[in-house]
Amino acid sequence: MIHEHRVLNPATEELVATVPATTAEEVAVAVTRAAAAQRTWAALAPADRARLLRRFAVLVDEHAERLAELEVTEAGHTLGNARWEAANVRDLLDYAAGGVERLTGRQIPVPGGIDVTFLEPLGVVGVIAPWNFPLPIAAWGAAPALAAGNAVLLKPAETTPLTALRLARLALDAGLPEHLFQVLPGAGDVAGNALVEHPGVAKIVFTGSTRVGKQIMARCAQRVKRLTLELGGKSPNIVFADADIEAAAAAAPMSFLDNAGQDCCARTRILVQRSVYDRFLEHLVPAVASVAVGDPSDEKTQMGPLISRAQLERVRTLVPEDADGIRGSAPGGPGFWFPPTVLTGIAPDAPVATEEVFGPVAVVLPFEDEDDAVRLANATEYGLAGSIWTRDVGRALRVSRAVRAGNLSVNSHSAVRYWTPFGGYRQSGLGRELGPDALAAFTETKNVFIGTEA
Ligand code: NAD
Repeated sequence: MIHEHRVLNPATEELVATVPATTAEEVAVAVTRAAAAQRTWAALAPADRARLLRRFAVLVDEHAERLAELEVTEAGHTLGNARWEAANVRDLLDYAAGGVERLTGRQIPVPGGIDVTFLEPLGVVGVIAPWNFPLPIAAWGAAPALAAGNAVLLKPAETTPLTALRLARLALDAGLPEHLFQVLPGAGDVAGNALVEHPGVAKIVFTGSTRVGKQIMARCAQRVKRLTLELGGKSPNIVFADADIEAAAAAAPMSFLDNAGQDCCARTRILVQRSVYDRFLEHLVPAVASVAVGDPSDEKTQMGPLISRAQLERVRTLVPEDADGIRGSAPGGPGFWFPPTVLTGIAPDAPVATEEVFGPVAVVLPFEDEDDAVRLANATEYGLAGSIWTRDVGRALRVSRAVRAGNLSVNSHSAVRYWTPFGGYRQSGLGRELGPDALAAFTETKNVFIGTEA
């Protein structure tokens, strides 16, 4: 059994820290303690819970630069992205805090009495996070769960536990009850599995690969455990001939190169109407070449390394070496580097066009007309995100409705805001995070009828 995890800087391969791995027995102790803390927390007046969460947000803000530096060091994120991520956690905590007093039930007209509903906390919630956005994804689960009156046990990915551990310390400093928000670093099949199996954990929020998500769903089924799944994606970027082609080509690179492509929403299938295919590629070539790849702690860098050697090998395996396309540059030497890559002439059913690569790689595929574009966009088991470039507002709406994915953007690649819902269709997930209903996802609805006739 692994007793500790080594955290490496993916840009240099230097050892950053060694973190003890939580055992299944330690998870069980954490659940008991969290259950006790949850009862204290849920009994607080809503305004007091909200105030403590706002104080937590203030501390995250005060420590934002340190959190961002940690995210750069352990996850290889660019400094600009990492700063955005720390701010996202702060804002989400504030937003969730604003929901505490607004988490109301309903009064429903019935004969012979009154009928009311209560939104009650679930108890202890387990959040299992991936390594690609360690900081925000931890908070997407934890902030609304806490705001709805739950305790949270967070299992970060093996490679990226440091920002999560820092968040837990800030929560304590803010005055949240001890053991209410605990971070349990460790192996997925040990600490993660223990959360999934423990009867005292009422809900699992899992973000990660579709493969592991399916296993967790099957195990949760044994206990009818509540579950939110945020899984993989293979999202289309659909460019119609009537679009502003220069703008679409200029925006395309960062839609799949951001976070070195380790983004579940990455627009890795660029679908271009055949009549503008060549023109689009002409503009895409310089746009890819201009992306600054290098030291993630340099403010000007747009793309850093991959997270690990294993991820680098996976990307290499999926990308045919002899394929035509556009290739940018990447640093040599230590670090897990892969250059920006756009492949052309790839069959739509080739592995690189259908599987989630999770690296800085996209394919360009031509399409004929609107129906063909929608068919290609939906020709995947995934359904997380997508973009549509067109000047025709009717087409923008038609295609937005026809693409089976949870998060679409028109003439933009924006997908995630903490105050709008986020999640996947089909094998990209189950349930939604963020947005106005985020807190309700961490409650049970209880219906109570009070007779007035007796
Ligand atoms: P992963 O599935 O390997 O691991 C995710 C987490 O699950 C880690 O903390 C891991 O330790 C844990 N885990 C692994 N096996 C487990 C088990 N048997 N029981 C319980 N927990 C277990 O995924 P990853 O490689 O860390 O992350 C990349 C994946 O995450 C990609 O597929 C990506 O698309 C997906 N992702 C999805 C979203 C989204 O919101 N839809 C966001 C980010 C990442």
